[in-house]
Amino acid sequence: MITIEKKLCTGCKTCLLFCPDEAIDYRDGKCFVDQTVCTQCGVCLENCAAQAIRFTPDTEELKIFQRAISNPGAGTTVTGGNSGRGGHEVKTLDVVPRQKNDEITINLDIGRPGVGVYLRDAERIVLALLEAGMKFLPGEDFPLATIIPDRKTGRFRPDCLDMHLHTLLVEGIFKQDKLPDIIRALQRVEKDIDTVICVGLVMPVDKNCRNSALDCLDTLGLPRPHRGKVNVGLGRPYPPDLSALPLP
Ligand code: SF4
Ligand code: SF4
Repeated sequence: MITIEKKLCTGCKTCLLFCPDEAIDYRDGKCFVDQTVCTQCGVCLENCAAQAIRFTPDTEELKIFQRAISNPGAGTTVTGGNSGRGGHEVKTLDVVPRQKNDEITINLDIGRPGVGVYLRDAERIVLALLEAGMKFLPGEDFPLATIIPDRKTGRFRPDCLDMHLHTLLVEGIFKQDKLPDIIRALQRVEKDIDTVICVGLVMPVDKNCRNSALDCLDTLGLPRPHRGKVNVGLGRPYPPDLSALPLP
């Protein structure tokens, strides 16, 4: 938990400028942290000359998760041991291999510093996408396990829905022919949420270097994205597990 020690606070308002979530209020010459908005990112801790801001480690699992997601430098096993918000090797899913040629991996960056996301909105987005054909990636590496106990239903823990984060990264996978359904699901759910979504798609181009996702956007009358990242295939599959071999 992040708090401000009232007697040390000079009311300089520097922390107000740095807080990316507008979680600090100023009243009667002092600053206070609104615990319902604070994401525990820790940015303010570095920017108080009076050293009036305190971090007290939490023992509650959800609060540890919140800090791990908002401050990847915090390090914890609550997010599956990842230092960061996403799974491992997302840029090389085709060679790991966790993605087949007829599949698309989707990376949703929900929220933004200054906008944030309450987890009740993130749950709405996840449920809409699961209904449209998305699945979570299989395997042990699931950073959202603390808040989503069952990957099949995608339902969030009821006691986390009021939690506020800068951003939440959600990664899933679906068959390429489901892309129109996925896009329509996002268009429907965006009317019910109070945050922003940045959508990333990871997919192979075909043998003629065509990207069928762009054709799909054309068909739906949506503008093509201005940005893309091309992985030219320098990734290699993981080496075999040599630990089982007898020692020389
Ligand atoms: S930066 Fe520190 S001293 Fe200044 S208002 Fe914030 S808590 Fe108070
Ligand atoms: S920890 Fe982050 S969100 Fe919380 S008050 Fe400090 S800067 Fe704002």
